[in-house]
Amino acid sequence: MQLRFECSLTGEEYVTQEAWRSATLERCPLHPEGGCGFARHGAYRRCSPPGTRIARWYCPRGHRTFSLLPDCLAARLPGTLAEVEAVVGAVERAKSLEAACVRLRPDIELPGVLRWVRRRVQAIHASLNTLKGLLPERFGGCQPRLGAFAEHLGVAMLLPALCAIAAPYLRFLPAPLGLRPRGGRGGEPGRTVQHSAGPDPPAVLAWLLVFITHLVNRGEQNGCRIPITTTATRWRCSATA
Ligand SMILES: [Zn+2]
Repeated sequence: MQLRFECSLTGEEYVTQEAWRSATLERCPLHPEGGCGFARHGAYRRCSPPGTRIARWYCPRGHRTFSLLPDCLAARLPGTLAEVEAVVGAVERAKSLEAACVRLRPDIELPGVLRWVRRRVQAIHASLNTLKGLLPERFGGCQPRLGAFAEHLGVAMLLPALCAIAAPYLRFLPAPLGLRPRGGRGGEPGRTVQHSAGPDPPAVLAWLLVFITHLVNRGEQNGCRIPITTTATRWRCSATA
């Protein structure tokens, strides 16, 4: 599971300072009470930027690894969020997607570039659209585009800044901005919003979990704690029971 490493460094600075050595994860996310054998588990390499390593931990009881991804790096894509932002920004400013593709990757034939670009553009625009809905008081008036969000926040580089603003929701947002698990249906459920093992819930329920988490976070920010005592509703097919 990837978790956020709050870090204001650029990708180059992260490598030159070997910042993964200072990344810390004090408690096991699965067993914060301890006693599970949770411990540092080295660091794995990423090919870009060259020399990048990501700090990793392992929980023997949960059979899970946890890695801390710094704000400057893209999730599940090589390279940095700044590089992703450059691609998506170029598409937003171009006359057409095809025109942007020819300039961005002249080394690849157009169908391949289209897939390469669409993956980035669609994921980032989907994340911005979700954040508009989750934070309407902040982004409700913005088009779900990098340029509009960056202008609204007054920042030159948007995506690393959004990691901080969207921190409570990163596990629900798709990579490369978010840390939603591969093939995720709304992210790993938190301790306060669990659904028990069983058939996957409908997509609408995944979204409901996002908004319940949002309400809990808002409540905690306002000094109130909303007890979540019910588990998620489950569906059962009587024909196959
Ligand atoms: Zn553990």
